[in-house]
Amino acid sequence: MELSLQSDSETVAASQTQLACPACASSSISAGLHVPDHEYGLSYRACYRQCEACGSLFQDPMPSLQELAGFYPGDYHSMAHAGLLSAIRNRIRISRLESLASRQSAILDYGCGDGAFLVDAARHMPSRQFWGFEISERPETAHLANGAVTVVKGSLPDLLAVLPQCGLMTLNHVIEHLPDPLATVSALVRKLVPGGILEGQTPAADSLERFVFGARWSGYHAPRHTVVFSRSGLSRLLERCGLTAIATQGAFNPAGLAVSLASLPHRQGGRIRRSGLPWLCFLAAASLLGPIDLISGRPGVINFFARKGAG
Ligand SMILES: [Zn+2]
Repeated sequence: MELSLQSDSETVAASQTQLACPACASSSISAGLHVPDHEYGLSYRACYRQCEACGSLFQDPMPSLQELAGFYPGDYHSMAHAGLLSAIRNRIRISRLESLASRQSAILDYGCGDGAFLVDAARHMPSRQFWGFEISERPETAHLANGAVTVVKGSLPDLLAVLPQCGLMTLNHVIEHLPDPLATVSALVRKLVPGGILEGQTPAADSLERFVFGARWSGYHAPRHTVVFSRSGLSRLLERCGLTAIATQGAFNPAGLAVSLASLPHRQGGRIRRSGLPWLCFLAAASLLGPIDLISGRPGVINFFARKGAG
């Protein structure tokens, strides 16, 4: 009995030393926190560990791609485009891309959904070549906006086989869904021209919002978010992928705070409908609280920017 206990504790210690932070690679990892699904009511309870070095959070065990695919219901919100808020966010995103994109090089939206945002972007930024990618079991390529937009569906190798060198890559609320962000972003960086830019938006694990809401913080988006980066963890990951000039800043995204507020009455997870009067009330409350989030210096959602060295 004593022998078996000893061997059990050795097994736990061994697996803990092998566990490394997906952001900064530190093996100093704290105990896990189980987080239920507050938005779509799935029964799966994700376990998140926190890196003691950079403060990033990540699932342990990390779900497989197949398991992750099962976490997205048919009515998943990124499939919906309606709403003033999403129109405003798209405008902000397009002006940001416009200010960052060079004249000639292609622009990639990694995690583009059905490509509706890219069609909108192509209308505002004519004579640019846009590429979009969305993970899918069945590989398929579609040309939209009179050929200005090419949407590749399939696996990452399917995309890499056809993608030209890009001047700008954007990952809007995508990097926190990747089971192996180092491998994916490193592969993308190889398709970036020297001096090219990788940018995006993601929730921040070192936020005031997470401190206030705990396991009800929308940034977990459990079990769909695989790695939720702190600002320093994200910087470290981007550096490890070969990027420099890394910068982050607070972003406009009241929907995140609205989901945290709507999760407050939940005991063990639940569902949140992103429509109707209750949702509008949560959005209004989130918009009122927004300035606190920004002046706290610890924003709940961040924009990030990084550049590939010219050499
Ligand atoms: Zn870390």
